[in-house]
Amino acid sequence: MNSDNSVLLIFTGGTIGMTSDPETGALRPADFESVEKLMPELKDMGIHIAGVPLLPLVDSSDISPKVWERIALTIEEHYDSYDGFVVLHGTDTMSYSASALSFMLTGLAKPVIFTGSQIPIGVLRTDAKENLITAIEIASAKKGGKAVVPEVCIYFEDKLFRANRTTKQTSEHFSAFKSFNYPPLAEVGVHIKFLHHNIMKVPENAKLHVRTKTDRNIAILKIFPGITEKTVNGILNIDGLKAVILETFGAGNAPRGEWFYQALKNATEKGIIIVNKSQCSAGSVEMGLYETSLNLLNAGVISGYDATTEALVAKLMYLLGENGNREKVKTQMAKSLCGEMTIG
Ligand code: ASP
Repeated sequence: MNSDNSVLLIFTGGTIGMTSDPETGALRPADFESVEKLMPELKDMGIHIAGVPLLPLVDSSDISPKVWERIALTIEEHYDSYDGFVVLHGTDTMSYSASALSFMLTGLAKPVIFTGSQIPIGVLRTDAKENLITAIEIASAKKGGKAVVPEVCIYFEDKLFRANRTTKQTSEHFSAFKSFNYPPLAEVGVHIKFLHHNIMKVPENAKLHVRTKTDRNIAILKIFPGITEKTVNGILNIDGLKAVILETFGAGNAPRGEWFYQALKNATEKGIIIVNKSQCSAGSVEMGLYETSLNLLNAGVISGYDATTEALVAKLMYLLGENGNREKVKTQMAKSLCGEMTIG
Protein backbone atom coordinates (compact mmCIF):
# COMPACT_ATOMS: atom_id res chain seq x y z
CA MET A 1 0.00 0.00 0.00
CA ASN A 2 1.42 3.42 -0.84
CA SER A 3 0.28 6.97 -1.45
CA ASP A 4 -0.16 6.13 -5.16
CA ASN A 5 -3.35 4.48 -3.97
CA SER A 6 -6.45 6.62 -3.83
CA VAL A 7 -9.97 6.10 -2.55
CA LEU A 8 -13.07 8.27 -2.75
CA LEU A 9 -15.48 8.09 0.21
CA ILE A 10 -19.10 8.72 -0.74
CA PHE A 11 -21.13 9.50 2.35
CA THR A 12 -24.91 8.97 2.25
CA GLY A 13 -25.61 8.89 6.02
CA GLY A 14 -26.49 6.04 8.40
CA THR A 15 -25.58 5.33 12.02
CA ILE A 16 -21.84 5.67 11.32
CA GLY A 17 -22.13 9.47 11.29
CA MET A 18 -25.14 9.94 13.58
CA THR A 19 -25.52 11.92 16.81
CA SER A 20 -28.40 12.01 19.31
CA ASP A 21 -31.04 14.71 18.94
CA PRO A 22 -30.75 16.77 22.16
CA GLU A 23 -34.55 16.88 22.60
CA THR A 24 -35.78 13.39 21.62
CA GLY A 25 -32.57 11.41 22.16
CA ALA A 26 -33.19 9.68 18.79
CA LEU A 27 -30.23 9.11 16.48
CA ARG A 28 -30.16 11.27 13.34
CA PRO A 29 -27.56 11.91 10.62
CA ALA A 30 -24.87 14.49 11.50
CA ASP A 31 -22.37 16.01 9.09
CA PHE A 32 -19.54 14.50 7.09
CA GLU A 33 -16.85 16.67 8.70
CA SER A 34 -17.58 15.07 12.09
CA VAL A 35 -16.75 11.63 10.63
CA GLU A 36 -13.46 12.95 9.28
CA LYS A 37 -12.68 14.72 12.57
CA LEU A 38 -13.40 11.61 14.62
CA MET A 39 -11.09 9.51 12.44
CA PRO A 40 -7.67 11.20 12.35
CA GLU A 41 -6.31 7.71 11.54
CA LEU A 42 -7.43 8.24 7.93
CA LYS A 43 -4.51 10.63 7.42
CA ASP A 44 -2.01 7.97 8.50
CA MET A 45 -3.09 5.27 6.09
CA GLY A 46 -0.69 6.27 3.31
CA ILE A 47 -3.63 6.39 0.91
CA HIS A 48 -4.95 9.50 -0.77
CA ILE A 49 -8.51 9.76 0.59
CA ALA A 50 -11.11 12.30 -0.47
CA GLY A 51 -14.77 12.53 0.54
CA VAL A 52 -18.04 13.55 -1.09
CA PRO A 53 -21.19 13.88 1.04
CA LEU A 54 -24.47 13.31 -0.81
CA LEU A 55 -26.63 15.87 0.96
CA PRO A 56 -28.96 15.68 2.74
CA LEU A 57 -27.48 12.75 4.69
CA VAL A 58 -30.20 10.24 5.51
CA ASP A 59 -31.08 7.34 7.72
CA SER A 60 -31.09 4.55 5.15
CA SER A 61 -34.82 3.94 5.71
CA ASP A 62 -35.22 7.14 3.67
CA ILE A 63 -33.06 5.93 0.78
CA SER A 64 -34.67 5.92 -2.66
CA PRO A 65 -33.60 5.02 -6.21
CA LYS A 66 -32.80 8.72 -6.62
CA VAL A 67 -29.91 8.26 -4.15
CA TRP A 68 -28.78 5.10 -5.98
CA GLU A 69 -28.59 7.23 -9.13
CA ARG A 70 -26.55 9.91 -7.34
CA ILE A 71 -24.08 7.31 -6.02
CA ALA A 72 -23.70 5.82 -9.52
CA LEU A 73 -23.18 9.21 -11.16
CA THR A 74 -20.63 10.23 -8.49
CA ILE A 75 -18.65 7.06 -9.20
CA GLU A 76 -18.86 7.70 -12.95
CA GLU A 77 -17.67 11.29 -12.54
CA HIS A 78 -14.63 10.28 -10.47
CA TYR A 79 -14.00 6.85 -11.97
CA ASP A 80 -10.67 7.59 -13.62
CA SER A 81 -9.26 9.54 -10.66
CA TYR A 82 -9.49 6.88 -7.92
CA ASP A 83 -8.45 3.25 -7.46
CA GLY A 84 -11.64 2.46 -5.59
CA PHE A 85 -14.74 3.79 -3.85
CA VAL A 86 -16.14 3.36 -0.35
CA VAL A 87 -19.81 4.14 0.15
CA LEU A 88 -20.82 4.95 3.73
CA HIS A 89 -24.46 3.98 4.12
CA GLY A 90 -26.94 3.00 6.83
CA THR A 91 -27.17 -0.72 7.37
CA ASP A 92 -30.98 -1.01 7.25
CA THR A 93 -31.23 -0.83 3.46
CA MET A 94 -27.57 -1.23 2.51
CA SER A 95 -28.20 -4.56 0.77
CA TYR A 96 -30.85 -2.98 -1.49
CA SER A 97 -28.66 -0.01 -2.45
CA ALA A 98 -25.50 -2.05 -2.94
CA SER A 99 -27.43 -4.60 -5.05
CA ALA A 100 -28.85 -1.77 -7.17
CA LEU A 101 -25.36 -0.36 -7.75
CA SER A 102 -24.11 -3.79 -8.84
CA PHE A 103 -26.63 -3.67 -11.72
CA MET A 104 -26.22 0.03 -12.52
CA LEU A 105 -22.41 -0.04 -12.81
CA THR A 106 -22.03 -2.29 -15.86
CA GLY A 107 -18.45 -2.98 -16.95
CA LEU A 108 -17.12 -2.11 -13.47
CA ALA A 109 -13.41 -2.90 -13.03
CA LYS A 110 -12.77 -1.14 -9.70
CA PRO A 111 -13.88 -1.87 -6.12
CA VAL A 112 -17.03 -0.21 -4.76
CA ILE A 113 -17.19 -1.15 -1.08
CA PHE A 114 -20.27 -0.32 0.98
CA THR A 115 -19.84 -0.12 4.74
CA GLY A 116 -21.28 1.57 7.83
CA SER A 117 -21.62 0.71 11.49
CA GLN A 118 -24.02 -0.42 14.18
CA ILE A 119 -22.70 2.17 16.69
CA PRO A 120 -21.91 5.80 15.70
CA ILE A 121 -18.28 6.71 15.12
CA GLY A 122 -18.23 9.10 18.11
CA VAL A 123 -19.13 6.38 20.63
CA LEU A 124 -16.28 4.61 22.43
CA ARG A 125 -17.34 1.05 21.50
CA THR A 126 -17.96 1.93 17.86
CA ASP A 127 -17.48 -0.65 15.12
CA ALA A 128 -17.14 2.17 12.57
CA LYS A 129 -13.37 2.54 12.68
CA GLU A 130 -12.49 -1.05 11.87
CA ASN A 131 -15.16 -1.22 9.17
CA LEU A 132 -14.09 2.01 7.51
CA ILE A 133 -10.32 1.44 7.67
CA THR A 134 -10.57 -2.09 6.27
CA ALA A 135 -13.07 -1.04 3.59
CA ILE A 136 -10.59 1.64 2.46
CA GLU A 137 -7.73 -0.88 2.39
CA ILE A 138 -9.82 -3.28 0.29
CA ALA A 139 -10.97 -0.50 -2.05
CA SER A 140 -7.36 0.48 -2.71
CA ALA A 141 -5.91 -3.03 -2.99
CA LYS A 142 -4.20 -3.68 -6.31
CA LYS A 143 -2.20 -6.56 -7.72
CA GLY A 144 -0.14 -6.15 -10.88
CA GLY A 145 -1.73 -2.72 -11.31
CA LYS A 146 -5.28 -4.16 -11.27
CA ALA A 147 -7.98 -4.00 -8.61
CA VAL A 148 -8.05 -7.11 -6.43
CA VAL A 149 -11.85 -6.90 -5.97
CA PRO A 150 -13.44 -5.31 -9.05
CA GLU A 151 -16.98 -5.67 -7.71
CA VAL A 152 -19.66 -3.96 -5.66
CA CYS A 153 -19.29 -5.42 -2.15
CA ILE A 154 -20.32 -4.98 1.46
CA TYR A 155 -17.60 -5.07 4.10
CA PHE A 156 -18.76 -5.54 7.69
CA GLU A 157 -17.07 -6.79 10.85
CA ASP A 158 -14.62 -9.28 9.36
CA LYS A 159 -16.11 -10.32 6.04
CA LEU A 160 -16.25 -9.00 2.52
CA PHE A 161 -19.33 -10.14 0.61
CA ARG A 162 -20.61 -9.75 -2.94
CA ALA A 163 -23.17 -6.99 -2.37
CA ASN A 164 -26.03 -8.52 -4.31
CA ARG A 165 -25.82 -11.71 -2.23
CA THR A 166 -26.27 -10.01 1.14
CA THR A 167 -29.09 -9.54 3.62
CA LYS A 168 -29.07 -7.59 6.88
CA GLN A 169 -29.36 -10.37 9.42
CA THR A 170 -29.03 -8.66 12.81
CA SER A 171 -29.59 -5.24 14.33
CA GLU A 172 -27.77 -6.30 17.50
CA HIS A 173 -24.44 -7.89 16.61
CA PHE A 174 -21.60 -6.26 14.71
CA SER A 175 -21.79 -8.90 11.96
CA ALA A 176 -24.81 -7.12 10.47
CA PHE A 177 -24.78 -8.92 7.11
CA LYS A 178 -24.85 -12.44 5.87
CA SER A 179 -24.49 -13.95 2.41
CA PHE A 180 -26.41 -17.22 2.66
CA ASN A 181 -25.95 -18.48 -0.86
CA TYR A 182 -22.45 -17.31 -1.81
CA PRO A 183 -19.16 -17.56 0.09
CA PRO A 184 -17.24 -14.43 1.25
CA LEU A 185 -14.78 -12.67 -1.09
CA ALA A 186 -12.38 -11.96 1.78
CA GLU A 187 -11.97 -12.83 5.46
CA VAL A 188 -10.30 -10.38 7.78
CA GLY A 189 -8.32 -11.10 10.93
CA VAL A 190 -4.70 -10.18 11.48
CA HIS A 191 -4.43 -10.23 7.68
CA ILE A 192 -6.89 -9.48 4.89
CA LYS A 193 -7.24 -12.85 3.19
CA PHE A 194 -8.74 -12.47 -0.28
CA LEU A 195 -10.55 -15.57 -1.51
CA HIS A 196 -9.62 -15.04 -5.15
CA HIS A 197 -11.62 -17.97 -6.54
CA ASN A 198 -14.84 -16.34 -5.26
CA ILE A 199 -14.08 -12.94 -6.78
CA MET A 200 -15.44 -11.97 -10.19
CA LYS A 201 -12.99 -11.81 -13.11
CA VAL A 202 -13.44 -8.78 -15.34
CA PRO A 203 -12.59 -8.75 -19.05
CA GLU A 204 -9.39 -6.88 -20.01
CA ASN A 205 -11.30 -4.28 -22.02
CA ALA A 206 -14.07 -3.66 -19.43
CA LYS A 207 -15.48 -0.15 -19.76
CA LEU A 208 -17.81 1.44 -17.24
CA HIS A 209 -21.33 2.20 -18.42
CA VAL A 210 -23.63 3.66 -15.81
CA ARG A 211 -27.33 2.91 -16.23
CA THR A 212 -29.50 4.60 -13.69
CA LYS A 213 -33.09 4.36 -14.93
CA THR A 214 -35.41 2.51 -12.57
CA ASP A 215 -39.11 1.64 -12.51
CA ARG A 216 -40.74 1.30 -9.09
CA ASN A 217 -43.94 -0.42 -10.24
CA ILE A 218 -43.16 -3.64 -8.43
CA ALA A 219 -44.50 -5.33 -5.28
CA ILE A 220 -43.63 -8.13 -2.87
CA LEU A 221 -46.32 -10.66 -2.04
CA LYS A 222 -45.37 -12.80 0.95
CA ILE A 223 -47.73 -15.76 1.30
CA PHE A 224 -48.68 -17.43 4.59
CA PRO A 225 -51.09 -20.24 5.54
CA GLY A 226 -54.56 -18.73 5.48
CA ILE A 227 -53.81 -15.81 3.15
CA THR A 228 -57.07 -14.59 1.62
CA GLU A 229 -58.09 -14.24 -1.98
CA LYS A 230 -58.85 -10.57 -1.27
CA THR A 231 -55.26 -9.89 -0.15
CA VAL A 232 -53.69 -11.70 -3.11
CA ASN A 233 -55.98 -10.02 -5.63
CA GLY A 234 -55.55 -6.66 -3.89
CA ILE A 235 -51.83 -6.79 -4.63
CA LEU A 236 -51.98 -8.37 -8.07
CA ASN A 237 -54.49 -5.75 -9.26
CA ILE A 238 -52.51 -2.68 -8.18
CA ASP A 239 -52.82 -0.09 -10.92
CA GLY A 240 -49.72 0.03 -13.15
CA LEU A 241 -48.08 -3.00 -11.51
CA LYS A 242 -45.37 -4.56 -13.70
CA ALA A 243 -43.70 -7.20 -11.55
CA VAL A 244 -44.18 -9.10 -8.29
CA ILE A 245 -41.76 -11.00 -6.11
CA LEU A 246 -43.81 -13.90 -4.76
CA GLU A 247 -42.30 -15.04 -1.46
CA THR A 248 -43.10 -18.74 -1.26
CA PHE A 249 -42.45 -21.63 1.13
CA GLY A 250 -39.39 -23.94 1.14
CA ALA A 251 -38.07 -24.74 -2.31
CA GLY A 252 -40.60 -22.38 -3.92
CA ASN A 253 -43.94 -23.94 -2.99
CA ALA A 254 -47.39 -22.37 -2.62
CA PRO A 255 -51.00 -23.42 -1.88
CA ARG A 256 -52.70 -25.36 -4.66
CA GLY A 257 -56.14 -23.72 -4.35
CA GLU A 258 -57.83 -23.00 -7.68
CA TRP A 259 -58.45 -19.34 -6.76
CA PHE A 260 -54.74 -18.83 -6.07
CA TYR A 261 -53.71 -20.40 -9.37
CA GLN A 262 -56.29 -18.31 -11.28
CA ALA A 263 -55.19 -15.08 -9.58
CA LEU A 264 -51.56 -15.68 -10.61
CA LYS A 265 -52.52 -16.82 -14.11
CA ASN A 266 -54.72 -13.75 -14.67
CA ALA A 267 -51.84 -11.53 -13.56
CA THR A 268 -49.21 -13.12 -15.83
CA GLU A 269 -51.66 -13.06 -18.75
CA LYS A 270 -52.08 -9.32 -18.18
CA GLY A 271 -48.28 -9.02 -18.57
CA ILE A 272 -47.22 -8.89 -14.91
CA ILE A 273 -43.92 -10.67 -14.30
CA ILE A 274 -44.11 -12.89 -11.20
CA VAL A 275 -40.81 -14.12 -9.73
CA ASN A 276 -40.70 -16.98 -7.25
CA LYS A 277 -38.46 -16.28 -4.23
CA SER A 278 -38.31 -18.69 -1.30
CA GLN A 279 -38.94 -17.37 2.22
CA CYS A 280 -35.91 -19.47 3.28
CA SER A 281 -32.70 -17.45 3.46
CA ALA A 282 -30.49 -20.30 2.23
CA GLY A 283 -31.10 -22.59 -0.73
CA SER A 284 -32.72 -22.19 -4.11
CA VAL A 285 -36.18 -22.23 -5.65
CA GLU A 286 -36.72 -25.50 -7.53
CA MET A 287 -39.95 -25.21 -9.44
CA GLY A 288 -41.52 -28.57 -10.21
CA LEU A 289 -39.73 -30.40 -7.39
CA TYR A 290 -43.01 -30.62 -5.46
CA GLU A 291 -46.55 -30.67 -6.82
CA THR A 292 -47.07 -27.46 -4.83
CA SER A 293 -44.82 -25.55 -7.21
CA LEU A 294 -46.04 -27.10 -10.48
CA ASN A 295 -49.10 -24.84 -10.37
CA LEU A 296 -46.83 -21.82 -10.24
CA LEU A 297 -44.98 -22.95 -13.36
CA ASN A 298 -48.30 -23.49 -15.14
CA ALA A 299 -49.48 -20.03 -14.07
CA GLY A 300 -46.45 -18.47 -15.78
CA VAL A 301 -44.42 -17.71 -12.63
CA ILE A 302 -40.64 -17.61 -13.23
CA SER A 303 -37.87 -18.75 -10.86
CA GLY A 304 -35.78 -16.37 -8.78
CA TYR A 305 -33.32 -19.24 -8.15
CA ASP A 306 -31.22 -18.46 -5.05
CA ALA A 307 -31.26 -14.65 -5.35
CA THR A 308 -32.11 -12.53 -2.32
CA THR A 309 -35.28 -10.43 -2.18
CA GLU A 310 -33.04 -7.34 -2.08
CA ALA A 311 -31.28 -8.35 -5.31
CA LEU A 312 -34.59 -9.20 -7.01
CA VAL A 313 -36.09 -5.82 -6.06
CA ALA A 314 -33.03 -4.03 -7.45
CA LYS A 315 -32.83 -6.20 -10.58
CA LEU A 316 -36.52 -5.80 -11.47
CA MET A 317 -36.46 -2.02 -10.93
CA TYR A 318 -33.30 -1.79 -13.03
CA LEU A 319 -34.44 -4.02 -15.89
CA LEU A 320 -37.93 -2.48 -16.06
CA GLY A 321 -36.37 0.99 -16.01
CA GLU A 322 -33.80 0.20 -18.66
CA ASN A 323 -36.05 -1.79 -20.91
CA GLY A 324 -39.81 -1.85 -20.52
CA ASN A 325 -40.13 -4.90 -22.83
CA ARG A 326 -41.62 -7.69 -20.74
CA GLU A 327 -40.14 -10.61 -22.70
CA LYS A 328 -36.64 -9.07 -22.60
CA VAL A 329 -36.96 -8.48 -18.86
CA LYS A 330 -38.03 -12.11 -18.37
CA THR A 331 -35.05 -13.34 -20.40
CA GLN A 332 -32.67 -11.23 -18.29
CA MET A 333 -34.33 -12.43 -15.07
CA ALA A 334 -33.33 -15.97 -16.03
CA LYS A 335 -29.64 -14.96 -16.29
CA SER A 336 -27.14 -14.03 -13.64
CA LEU A 337 -26.10 -10.51 -14.71
CA CYS A 338 -23.45 -9.77 -12.08
CA GLY A 339 -23.17 -12.84 -9.88
CA GLU A 340 -26.51 -12.29 -8.12
CA MET A 341 -27.69 -15.88 -8.49
CA THR A 342 -26.61 -19.43 -9.16
CA ILE A 343 -28.43 -21.12 -12.02
CA GLY A 344 -28.56 -24.85 -12.54
N1 ASP B 1 -31.15 3.22 10.92
C1 ASP B 1 -29.75 3.20 10.50
C2 ASP B 1 -29.69 3.33 9.00
O1 ASP B 1 -29.91 2.37 8.31
C3 ASP B 1 -29.10 1.93 10.96
C4 ASP B 1 -27.62 1.83 10.64
O2 ASP B 1 -26.99 2.60 9.97
O3 ASP B 1 -27.03 0.85 11.11
O4 ASP B 1 -29.44 4.40 8.50
